Amino acid sequence: MAWITGYPREKVNWGPTVDPKKCIGCGMCLNCGKKVFEWKDGKSVVVRYFDCQVGCTTCANLCPARAISFPDLEDLRDLYRKEGIWAKVREQMVQEGKITV
Ligand code: SF4
Ligand code: SF4
Repeated sequence: MAWITGYPREKVNWGPTVDPKKCIGCGMCLNCGKKVFEWKDGKSVVVRYFDCQVGCTTCANLCPARAISFPDLEDLRDLYRKEGIWAKVREQMVQEGKITV
């Protein structure tokens, strides 16, 4: 997984939360290619939290009811800094020829 290299995904707290009181059942977020949501009783529920692409917020941006939220982005940035994740991602990208140094 290029965005976190070999770092354990379950240690990265990033994924959507749906507020069932706000969800109007439009179905937009079921479009997520990572299949994080499933349809239940006319609304969307999160079933694969850790399959969410780290850093992505597309479903929240498009939700017409603003029913989807995410953890604090600064906590994610802190984790990347603390664990040196960006350095490893960068190294991998150099190896793959995506960037040069
Ligand atoms: S996009 Fe928002 S309103 Fe639509 S189903 Fe998903 S959570 Fe509910
Ligand atoms: S943030 Fe992106 S990857 Fe995560 S559930 Fe929403 S659309 Fe899917």
